[in-house]
Amino acid sequence: MYPASEIYGGFANAFDYGPLGSQLKLNLKNEWWKRFVVGRDDIVGMDSAIIQNPKVWEASGHLGSFTDPLVECKKCHKRFREDHVEEAKSLISTPPNLPSERGGKDGLTPEQKEMLVCASGGEHDFAEAKNFNLMFKTFIGVTEDSTSTAYLRPETAQGMFINFLNVTQSSRVKIPFGIGQIGKAFRNEITPGNFTFRTREFEQAEIEYFVEPSLDESKKWFTYWLARWKEFFTDFGIKDENLTIRAHDKSELSHYSAGTSDIEYDFPFGMSELAGVAQRTKFDLEQHEKHSGIEQKYFDEANNKKYIPYVVEPTMGVDRATLAFLVDAYDESDGTDGREKGEVTLRLDPRLAPIKVAVFPLMKKEGMPEIAKEIIADLRSAGVATFYDESGSIGRRYRRQDEIGTPFCITIDFDSIKEKTVTVRDRDTMKQERIKISKLNDCLLEKL
Ligand code: ATP
Repeated sequence: MYPASEIYGGFANAFDYGPLGSQLKLNLKNEWWKRFVVGRDDIVGMDSAIIQNPKVWEASGHLGSFTDPLVECKKCHKRFREDHVEEAKSLISTPPNLPSERGGKDGLTPEQKEMLVCASGGEHDFAEAKNFNLMFKTFIGVTEDSTSTAYLRPETAQGMFINFLNVTQSSRVKIPFGIGQIGKAFRNEITPGNFTFRTREFEQAEIEYFVEPSLDESKKWFTYWLARWKEFFTDFGIKDENLTIRAHDKSELSHYSAGTSDIEYDFPFGMSELAGVAQRTKFDLEQHEKHSGIEQKYFDEANNKKYIPYVVEPTMGVDRATLAFLVDAYDESDGTDGREKGEVTLRLDPRLAPIKVAVFPLMKKEGMPEIAKEIIADLRSAGVATFYDESGSIGRRYRRQDEIGTPFCITIDFDSIKEKTVTVRDRDTMKQERIKISKLNDCLLEKL
């Protein structure tokens, strides 16, 4: 990942995903979609507009209450989220709970230090907290007045609620069922930071799961989805001990929620929210019914009843998940596993790895590059992301691939010419296997 607008000095906590990063993030989204949309008969997908009629945000409560308390220092005019300042203060009043490599000598991150020390010296002199709406405003058309004001969506969820009727009328779904969506959301965060953990433009992957309207049903599906959500992270390689489930206490709950739990990950800057599951009750559909004047009810044929369903919402940040998978997969050798001390291996699940197979001719002659290129063409036509490398020693070429998480490397040598075989080297075990070229595609596709 690169800082966005880097040649112009960067741009406030925005990042661009490069060739490998964009592929990693895309693989993650594809696996999510395969598992939760394509892989289930109770969930359908959608892709809604980022800019909707502003009435959507009035109905959802975002215009009125999607705010964070903001404090501004009267001396340096820096602004911070009040709850973030409180958190930083509590870290110095209690023994710092972060190891030194995570936040410097005193256990504070650079952002937290900025919250406690004023640039003009001493402590900040904060004015009273003001509520600050996090939605980005824009204007539609040529005039810039209140009638042309619109907003970039702060969550993908509302796109699914306002299409509830369209989906029920066009896709023959029956309760319980869900709508899934992956897309960008925008929040004018007061204190973004920690790399891609908190940015102003980010992606979410969410499901709105509609169930019969009772707290018992809602609770049952809430428990179910919390387990499926955590499983997604562990099945794709995140170590269980690095994940925690934390229930929100009453004061933290969003205006719509009858219960929310976050899945937190042990990021290098501390345990922080990666994903969550919320019981949104019937709040959103009821609000849209009131504000649009159009009934948002479901006719339950099996029970001959008409009702507004309850909603359970599993949500995750795609950028935060990408970051967590990266951090969790990062492994520096201690020198006892056959690698040199300090050598980096990115132990990504093969399904997430941006490059799946690298192909190396041992030498740039004897027809080895030609065999390598034929193998690459075959793998590419089977949809496998490959990389060709003919420079440097084979050991160096392996190391370059280990660093970016490529699970398999193929080497073409003299036996490839005589016996039509190649070696396949496994990133994690470093073991090499000789395989017939004619069997290579099937063998790799199975491993991947
Ligand atoms: P936080 O408490 O960290 O501000 P939130 O509880 O407001 O997050 P939600 O509204 O539940 O977040 O959004 C769903 C998911 O979207 C979060 O679990 C998180 O992974 C992701 N997310 C939210 N805000 C950001 C952001 N500014 N940058 C990156 N990802 C974000």
